[in-house]
This record gives sequence, structure tokens and C-alpha cells, in this order.
Amino acid sequence: MIFATNKQIKSLITGLDKISQDSLNEKVELSSGISLSPLVSAINNLIGAFTKRIAFLEQENKKSVAILDNMIEGVLAIDKDAKVISINPATENIFGIKKSEAEGRYLLEAIRNNDIAEIANKVLTSGGFISQELSLVWPVQRIFSINASAIIIGERSISGCLIVIHDITEIRKLEAMRREFVANVSHELKTPLTSIKGFVETLLEGAIEDRENSRNFLEIIHEHTIRLDGLINDLLSLAYLESKALALNLEKTNISQLLDKVLEGFKSQFKAKGVSAENQLPGELFVNADSAKIEQVLVNLVDNAIKFNRSQGTINISHQDFDGKVKIIVEDTGMGIPEKDLARIFERFYRVDKARSRELGGTGLGLSIVKHIIEAHGGSVGVESLEGAGSKFWFILLKVIKEA
Ligand code: ADP
Repeated sequence: MIFATNKQIKSLITGLDKISQDSLNEKVELSSGISLSPLVSAINNLIGAFTKRIAFLEQENKKSVAILDNMIEGVLAIDKDAKVISINPATENIFGIKKSEAEGRYLLEAIRNNDIAEIANKVLTSGGFISQELSLVWPVQRIFSINASAIIIGERSISGCLIVIHDITEIRKLEAMRREFVANVSHELKTPLTSIKGFVETLLEGAIEDRENSRNFLEIIHEHTIRLDGLINDLLSLAYLESKALALNLEKTNISQLLDKVLEGFKSQFKAKGVSAENQLPGELFVNADSAKIEQVLVNLVDNAIKFNRSQGTINISHQDFDGKVKIIVEDTGMGIPEKDLARIFERFYRVDKARSRELGGTGLGLSIVKHIIEAHGGSVGVESLEGAGSKFWFILLKVIKEA
């Protein structure tokens, strides 16, 4: 049997010390002799295996960190004492805190939110799962869905809590808008229907025999049915414009000619109100557009410019060129729009004066249809107005540059 010399053992210990202090990139080397070489190669093999395993774990760790870093949801892990173990960048953004300052602190110290601390506490004591909606007013006003579950290691022991925070503000906003829209539609439909029902009942109860009154009643019923028809047509247009199926039939469109056609259609309204309109668009102005839909845009804008104009007022339709685009401006000399209403004027059913709009046969949907059509063309819409002096509605479309 060959025994290892003291020198060899010392050299082995020095090698192992170096590895434990340094890294696993080292190899144990013996200065001389062969008696320890099987042990040395076993150790070196073990180091090789560890090195591979650690490289694999580092890779896995990098993946997990990348996933957490890129998650839109906030992720927050705390230990069983409610101290923060880890947070991802989304959590930093939501609560306006820094990872380095939050980690290691108690949850309530890191994130000053009692509701989240309470949820975490419940999970740490019960070991279950809690899903709850929270409205945050500070540092940002938003609505979050909080999902907290216990981190269980082994059979029963709760070693912490994992909290996932999902921003659902936009979803809730859309739901509220939908609810409001349904309520508005129901209300708009109900008003004329209630009137129609009332007058028909009165007629049936005997008023039909009174020739003069019955004619009056029928005229009112007729007016309301026209309103209903207009409303349903506008709703159908909107539904169609909002549906994914909307296909634009883009073509080189002479916008000045299109406007002439639209103005011609409003002849009797111009006459009735004594309003005059001037088409100042150059005859050779072409846009890349779905002409039927742009015709609808012009109809809605000119219709409003007449309805909300003063009697004997004027309407000017002009343009501005820039960067291959054209801005079409419909300017009237009407009542104008109060500053506080300007930002919401393109919303569905938004009207400055509901009663007046109804009286003028409006549905409150005309401008939202305009906005939808122009945005579907990749353009934009806007308004400038001075109360009492008039309004300027405009839209921007891509111009067709004349071939050389
Ligand atoms: P409406 O059917 O009521 O005309 P719109 O969506 O076309 O619906 O317009 C919404 C509201 O915007 C109108 O009720 C009116 O209050 C305001 N508005 C639109 N165009 C004009 C304009 N040219 N001048 C003044 N107010 C306008």
C-alpha cells in the first residue's frame, strides 16, 4: 500500500481551500506523487459536475429574473414575518418605491397600504388564497386586482406570501363606458317610444274621432318615429364602424367635388335658416379616402354647422396643407361651444344642451361617427370654438400628391 505523504495532503488541503475561497474554476493539483491521485480526480470530477449544475441554475435564475422584470403585473414576495423578499419593476412603478429600499423591510413599511398588508396577513395566517379588487388613490389613482397566495414549503409550513398585482383600471373604465352607453341608448329610445305609446293610446281611447286633434297627434307620432329612425341609423353606423369588419374602400377622392354634392343636399336647410355656405377648397384637392364615408363626415359637420348656426349665419369650408396631409376646416358663425365641453364633444351622446339638440333632430352621435371614420383612415379630428362667436371643426387626411 502506498501512503500519502504529509506534503501531498497539505498540498491537497491548500488546493481545496483555494477552491472554496475562490471559485469552482480551479482544479486541485498535487505537487508530486500519485498516492492521492484517485481522490484528486474524484474531487475534480465533483467540481466539474457542480460547475455545470451551478451554470444551469444561474441560467434558470436569469430566466426567472427576466420574466419577473418584464411582467406587466406587479409581483411581490414576502417571508413569513411579512418582510419583503423581492419585488419586480412593475411593483416599483405602481407604488413609486425602489427595490433596494423595499427588500428586507416590513411590507407595511415598504408599501404604505393597509389593505394589501391585511390581505398578506390573512394569507400568512390561513395559508390560503385571496383575490380582491382594490382602489388605490395614492401614489396613482388606479384600480388593481390583487391575488395573494401562500408560499408553502414541505407539507404545511407557510414560509411566505406571493402577491400579484394586476392593473384593471382600463377594463373597469371600458365596462363603465359600456354601461353608460347602454343606459344612454335605452333612455334615448324610451323617450320617443313613451310619447308614441301615449299618443296612440289617446287616439284609441277616442281622440281619433276628433279630426283636428288626431292630425296633430299623428304629426307628433310621425316626428318621434323620424327621431327613432335617425337614432337607430346612427347606432347601426356606429356599430358597423366599431366592428372589426370595417373595410375602407380607399380611392383617390376629389374632396371639393364631394363637398359640393353634400352642400347641394342641404339646399332646403340653408334656405330655411338663411344660412349660406362657401366651399373654398381648390378644385384639384385629392385625398386618399373612402368617399362614401368622408361624405358622411361632411354631412354630419355641415348639418351641425347649420343647426347650431345663427339665422343668416355663414359656413366656410377651407383647407391647410402640410407634410403630405390636408386639414379640412368647417367653420361656422354659430353659438359656439363652452370651453368646458370642448374636450368631450366627440363622445357618444355628449351634447352641450340635450333638449336643444333633440329639438333640432340631433341624436348626439354625429360627431362620434365623424371621429370613428377619420380615425379609421389614420387621421385625426379636432375642434376650436369661442362661445357666442362660432366653431371650427377640422379633420386631417392623407393627401394624394399629384403625379408629375
Ligand atoms: P347632435 O346630434 O346633437 O348634433 P353631435 O354628436 O353631432 O350630436 O354633436 C354633439 C354636440 O356638439 C351637439 O349636441 C352640440 O351641443 C355640439 N355641437 C356640434 N357641432 C356644433 C357646432 N357647429 N356649433 C356648436 N355646437 C356644436
